[in-house]
Amino acid sequence: MNVIEAVSLSKIYHRSRTQALSDITLTIGRGEIFTLLGRNGAGKTTFLRIAATQLMPSKGRISVLGHDVRDEPLQIRSKIAVVPQEGSTIGPLTPWDHVYLTLLARGMSRNQAHERSEKTIERLELTEYRNQPADSLSGGLKQRVRVAMAVATDAELIFLDEPTLGLDAVTRRRIWGVLNEIQKEGRSILLTTHYIDEAEILSNNVAIIDHGKMVLSGSPAELLRNVKEHVRVDIVGSTFSEEELNNYGRVVKLAERFRVLTDDRLGRELADEALKRGSDVGLARVSLEDLFVDLVGRAEE
Ligand code: ATP
Repeated sequence: MNVIEAVSLSKIYHRSRTQALSDITLTIGRGEIFTLLGRNGAGKTTFLRIAATQLMPSKGRISVLGHDVRDEPLQIRSKIAVVPQEGSTIGPLTPWDHVYLTLLARGMSRNQAHERSEKTIERLELTEYRNQPADSLSGGLKQRVRVAMAVATDAELIFLDEPTLGLDAVTRRRIWGVLNEIQKEGRSILLTTHYIDEAEILSNNVAIIDHGKMVLSGSPAELLRNVKEHVRVDIVGSTFSEEELNNYGRVVKLAERFRVLTDDRLGRELADEALKRGSDVGLARVSLEDLFVDLVGRAEE
């Protein structure tokens, strides 16, 4: 069964006359981690807020966990949890209070709320800070508390809008681990992120949205399989001219390095040649980020 089914979904913000979403059709299966990718202002948060029943669509249809967002928002709300992009924690309350009170507010018994709060505080490695007022926590810790509030619930579907924004690399990986565990419990996750490595590692499926329109969707592996230039060669320094590199593939200039997107054979030839010339060289398969920059960047041009 699908947890989200959107058909020709559009959203216009009338006051600013912005068409934030245009004709989006997508499905998210039960137990999936699904990620929306797109540049700033692409429409990711708008989609997420519509699915979370915080905004009305202008056109099209979307059902969440079998309920239409227009007709049955209350049924949806009791089965989802949301980590918004700009949520705040409440000053004097501790991480423990945030999690425990959220669970009580959702109707859990005290015993169950207590047990789940304990588990979640531990899961997000907040034990050391559990009794500190939220005011005194760093931005990254506050973010972990907000994720904990959603994860602790028994929601079937969790929405996370840029959950790892501003977190250090170690904490980001911790959050990935927690999201994986949530998935193993059979729950589903809709995520937005600007970290494309995160999307590639975590997601079963992604959708790339640009200016409100769907550009591409599928599993990261599927999307990368269809790329013709599936190897990238990074060359640092100036042992090659750009003209010379053009013979091997498509050249992208990244600060002090050239990145050449090409096929296996030419990639290997170029890497060998670069080694002969004593260049600092790296050979890897293209990443979802290469594909994203290519697609969205080219559309911009
Ligand atoms: P970001 O990655 O920067 O968070 P996003 O992909 O989540 O961006 P949205 O926040 O959905 O994008 O915004 C899509 C478009 O709708 C943007 O042009 C934005 O300016 C506009 N928009 C968003 N919220 C509103 C609002 N409440 N009123 C009017 N316009 C809005």
